[in-house]
Amino acid sequence: MSTSQRPQTPREAWNALKEGNHRFVTESREHPNQDADRRTAIALQQKPFAALFGCADSRLSAEIIFDVGLGDLFVVRNAGQVLAETIIGSLEYAVEVLGTPLILVLGHDECGAIRATIDSTEGKLVSEGEFIHNLVARIQPTVEEANRAGKFDIDDITELHVQDTINELLTRSTLIANAVKAGKLGVVGANYRLSAGEIHPIVTIGDIN
Ligand SMILES: [Zn+2]
Repeated sequence: MSTSQRPQTPREAWNALKEGNHRFVTESREHPNQDADRRTAIALQQKPFAALFGCADSRLSAEIIFDVGLGDLFVVRNAGQVLAETIIGSLEYAVEVLGTPLILVLGHDECGAIRATIDSTEGKLVSEGEFIHNLVARIQPTVEEANRAGKFDIDDITELHVQDTINELLTRSTLIANAVKAGKLGVVGANYRLSAGEIHPIVTIGDIN
């Protein structure tokens, strides 16, 4: 899509992501905005139409799975998409400074970080990484909450983690919550299926549908 076609509203942005993912799934990708003209056109200013906060998993390559290009997505990722103050700050930047109308929180099936947290809950996590334990500890409350509700399946827990992440984001960031209330921002939580390449929405907030 050219700059003039940039999605402006939460609904337009979500539709653009859904359409791009559909092209990816059906092997009809257009590879937009990946040439030298685009590179030059946006060199002085970025205006991404969506922010993505997703798992760092190497199979979740944002621009590929949504068939977009340079300057389209503001991407923040870490293992298990675990919120931290720096991440909330990055997303606030996307909303306040870049005017991004959509935040997508993207988990996926068979997530290693969620699996490690399940293992930890069962006393089976073996890791020398001090900060791996720190990351797992941030997901742990969700796993315990799921277990209390009788849910032990990794995909159920991943869905709950996406919901909890969005709740935490909206609770901690007044700027983001206010942008949603003002109708300027939508937030979508979704799950990505690694094998099928498909995005499945779990929760939508704001003027999306
Ligand atoms: Zn993952």
